[in-house]
Parts: sequence; structure tokens; C-alpha cells
Amino acid sequence: MNRRSLAIAILVVLLLAIPLVVTSTYHMRIVNLALVFGLLAVSLNIVLGYTGQVALGHSGFFGIGAYTAALITEGGSGLLFWPGFLAAGIVTGIAGLAIGIPALRLRGHYLALATLGFGEIMRHVFFNWREVTRGMDGISGIPAPSIGIVELQGEGSYFYLALAILALAVLFCWRLQASKYGRMLAAIRDAELAAGTSGVNVARLKIAAFFISAVLAGFSGSLYAHLIRFISPDAFTFFEVTAPVLSMVIIGGVGTLIGPVLGAVVLTFLPELLRVSDAYYQLIYGAGLAAMVIFLPMGLLGALHGRLFGLFRPRAPASPASAGPPPEESAEAPDMVRAAALLSPKGGIGTGAVFEARGLTCRFGGLVAIDALDLQIQAGTVHALIGPNGSGKSTFINLATGIYQPTQGSIRFLGQEVAGARPWKVAAAGLARTFQNLRLFRSMTVRGNVLVAAVADRPAGWFETLLSLARSRAEEADLHARTEQALRLLGLWHLRDQLIRTLPHEQQRLVEIARAVAMRPRLLMLDEPAAGMNPVEVERLVTAIGRLRELGITILLIEHNVPLVMRLADRVTVLNFGRKIAEGEPDAVREEPEVVTAYLGQRLSDRLRQNNAA
Ligand code: ADP
Ligand code: MG
Repeated sequence: MNRRSLAIAILVVLLLAIPLVVTSTYHMRIVNLALVFGLLAVSLNIVLGYTGQVALGHSGFFGIGAYTAALITEGGSGLLFWPGFLAAGIVTGIAGLAIGIPALRLRGHYLALATLGFGEIMRHVFFNWREVTRGMDGISGIPAPSIGIVELQGEGSYFYLALAILALAVLFCWRLQASKYGRMLAAIRDAELAAGTSGVNVARLKIAAFFISAVLAGFSGSLYAHLIRFISPDAFTFFEVTAPVLSMVIIGGVGTLIGPVLGAVVLTFLPELLRVSDAYYQLIYGAGLAAMVIFLPMGLLGALHGRLFGLFRPRAPASPASAGPPPEESAEAPDMVRAAALLSPKGGIGTGAVFEARGLTCRFGGLVAIDALDLQIQAGTVHALIGPNGSGKSTFINLATGIYQPTQGSIRFLGQEVAGARPWKVAAAGLARTFQNLRLFRSMTVRGNVLVAAVADRPAGWFETLLSLARSRAEEADLHARTEQALRLLGLWHLRDQLIRTLPHEQQRLVEIARAVAMRPRLLMLDEPAAGMNPVEVERLVTAIGRLRELGITILLIEHNVPLVMRLADRVTVLNFGRKIAEGEPDAVREEPEVVTAYLGQRLSDRLRQNNAA
């Protein structure tokens, strides 16, 4: 038995002994409340921590679960507990969808406000829908739960039930976090746009997170109703439920596995411990909360990390300092045969124009960023798109990859219209990109970033993935193999376990390219990949682009480095003020007078400005 399982075994024994040690019913009640709120905190953490969405309506979900369970079991026997429990999960899950789908359009403060409003509305519903909820009188006569014919009278037996349900929820979250879905949720949290263009169906995953969170909140509401055996609207307010649960998640450690439960235990007991000094308890409680947030910004779990046998290990892997010196990069030249087997574009190189924009126009208010642009990209070529700053190059990529909607015009990719399509649809069709201003998944390692985008031949579904069935394990192996090849291709394999934020800028640019390559794209759009690179790094980039070409990936290259464009490009399009002013072979384009004034003219003026500044 290793240390980790030993620690878990000891923890389980200690937990199971609690009802034997705690003899006061009152204290057991508080322990049980901590479990109920622990489950609710785990639920909130899925939306807040895993997905990065600030949702403040959990009092509503908690209440819906409690009322559903109460109405089903009221005055009946404990045998009704399980039907009521399941119904609470289902009804609350449906409510979660009803909130989650419209909330997709909202972000940040707006989402917080909308969900806060939902919680308030539900409080009014509980209060005013008297025919069903009995209003202020509340619902009493809720039975104690039963398992089979064994009625769980007493706080001690309730404890084991609640503990088992909480443990299952934590186990579920553990599987979720460790799965591809956990990576995708974290990607949405870290960089939503890049998650979308990496093929993550952002809308579906956000809704899924909302749904799962709501179901768990409904379960915890049901547990609450059967613990207190009486419910009324004042138990489901922002200040009774949402605010404390939010504090539990934040204090325990947002996005961690066990943190929210720990936070729930601490925050349920703290007021009890502080009650000894009755007069000052609110003050001490408030000051304590503030101090924790200030001094333990990573939450309790962050502070405990590494001390408890590594049991409560946060998700970020070991820091690079402990990983030893990385091996030399020269030792990892890619095996092009293997790379081709795993990363060749899905559907082959193709022939003719893989991409065609016609009459493409994009306006921002009065500004025309792209003006009636026609552009074709031929299969297997490197097509450069150049032009002065602000000429619309990045806007063009944003239009092509579903980030911006065109005002007019069409974009056909592999014969399919993609103008206005969602980013993940475009990504799935085989169009990948990088961002001029890096958008990486900052909480992850180099490898984690690329894994998010990797595409397997036989993707596993939710069920297979969460249960880690054979198909899902095969998929994971497949994703890891492709990720390794993509990293080797870019000369990044020795950096695979480094956290992304510890890398210098130019290596982060290469990670963005590796992430795009792992999607096995037909067409890859690179937005100023050499920006900020020194000549040695530029040579490395040239080698990498050569390898991508060898794989059969068609490339659109936006680049300011004119000699680099002349070396790499088969064809060049020049933009100025969103309009195409020249197109053709690199050498011919360079000579065109309009290009010289528009493009090199600006370069010269840049040079002059630099000289003046120096
Ligand atoms: P480039 O990449 O060629 O330097 P961009 O495509 O980034 O140029 O920008 C083209 C023009 O469109 C610029 O004037 C820029 O300010 C404007 N623009 C780009 N994106 C937006 C936006 N989201 N809202 C308003 N204006 C934008
Ligand atoms: Mg740009």
C-alpha cells in the first residue's frame, strides 16, 4: 500500500468514527449540516472553479431540490426518500438547463447578476406560490430517510448516508477533472476563445457544467430537507445559502477537488466555536474570513498542499524546478514517419482551393476592417498575408475561424460555408489557428495545452469517459501519442511538463502552433508567429514550418518579417485598409509600387520613428 492509499484509509476510518466519538446530538447536527453544505459547495465549484463562471443562484437550486423532495415525501414514510432524492436531482437539473442555456450569452458580472436574480426569483416563488409551497408556513412532516426498510433515525445514521453521497460526488468530480472534459472545462476557464478555436464545444460544455452543478445542488437540497425535516422560504436566501457556500469554495480552494468540502467544514464549525464570545462573534467571524482570503489566497488547500502526504494534491503538476534539468532539445528530433502517421491532416492534403473568401466585408461601426475581400488559398501552399498594422490581417483570421461575424460575403472552407459558424465547428472542419496576442491555457502544462486540442480517431462519450472504460482509455492513449508528436515537431517535447506561464514568450508561441497542429488541420492560420523572436528562434520556427508543410498542412502566414515571408511563401496577398492591393509570387509582389508605398512606406516611417526615439 503506498502512502496515498494509506492516508486515504486512515482518513476513511477517522471519518467513520465521528458518530461514535461525537455524542451530542447538537454537534452531530452541525457535522451533518457541514456534509450537506459540503455537497452544495462541491456543486458550486463545478461552475465556479472548473469552468470559471461566476454563478450566484445556488440558493435557488438548493431550494428547488429541497422543495421537490419535501413535496414528494411529506407525511409519508422514509421509503419515499430515494424517489424524492432522484426527483430533486432531475427537477433541479432541468432548472439548471433553463438557466444555463440563456446564461450562455452572459459573462462575468452579467452572469453573476442574472444568476443572482434567479436565486431571488426562486425565493419569491417559494414564498408566494402558497398552493404548492405553503408560503411562510413551510412544509413539515418530512420523514427521515430510509435505506431499504431500515429507517435512518438519528443524526448518526444520517451521517453515514450523507457521507456516502458526498463521497460519491467527490469521486465523480475526481473523474471529471481527470478526464478530457475536465481539461476542456479548464480550457474554457483559462481562455474561452482559444478553447473554442481548439475544437472545444464551449456552449455544450458550459451547459453540461451548469446541469451537473444543478443536479448536485438538488441532491444537497433533498438531503437538507430530510435533515431538518422542515423547510420554509427563509432557509433559501442569498445570505443563508449562496454567500456562505461561495465563501466555502473560495476559502477551501476554488477549482480544487476537496477544498470546497474543507471550506464547508470550517465555515460550518467556525461560528459554533466563536459563539463562546457571544458579543464579538460576528466581528471575529468577519475578520477571520477577511484574513483567510488575504493570507490564504489559494484557499486552505493551497496552504496545506504538500503537507498531507500529497493527498489533497491540487491539479497543477510539480513545478519545473523539481523536474531536473531538461534534456537537450537536439535529442528529440521528430520521427517524421510517425509524425505523419499521427498528425497528417484528416482527409488528406486535397487539391485546388481549400479556402475561398468572396466579397468578405467586416465593419466595426464606421470602420471597415475588411473591405470586399476575395482570397483563395491553394492546397499544400504557404500563403502569406501581409500589410501594415491595422490593415485587417488579424480580423481576416477572426472572420475565418468564427470569432467575428462578417458583415457581408462568404467564406468557403473545403466546399463548406463557414462564415458566421461557431469556432468549434470551424475547428472540427479542419481549420486551426494561432493568436497574435497569445491565448494559452495558463493553469496547464505545455502538454496539457496541446492535449485539449488533440483529436482522436474514436472519441469516447461522457459515460465511457467518466467511468474510464476501455474505449476512453484507448482514446487517452491516442491523444497522448498525438500530443507527443506535435510537441516533438515543434521541438518542445523536453518542456512538456513545464507550466505554460514559466516559458518565455517565443516558446509560448511555439506551444500555440503545437496545439493547432494536434488538431490535424487541413489549413493552419498563423498570426505573426515570429513576433518578438531573435534570429536563432526564427530559424527554429522556419524548420518547424517546413515540417508542417511536409505533413501536408496548408498554411496561411501573417508576418511582418519580410525576408521571412520571401523565404517561406509560395504566394503573397497584400492588404491595406482591409483591401487587397496586390497578390502573386513573392518576388513580383515586392516590386509593385502600391505595395512599396503602403507596406515598406510604413516600415520606413517606423524605422525613422525608432531612430528618433533612440
Ligand atoms: P492587423 O492584424 O492587420 O494589424 P487588425 O485586423 O487587428 O489589423 O485590425 C484592423 C482594424 O480593425 C483596426 O483598425 C482595428 O482597430 C479594427 N478592429 C479589429 N478588431 C476590432 C474590434 N473587435 N472592434 C473594433 N475594431 C476592431
Ligand atoms: Mg494583427
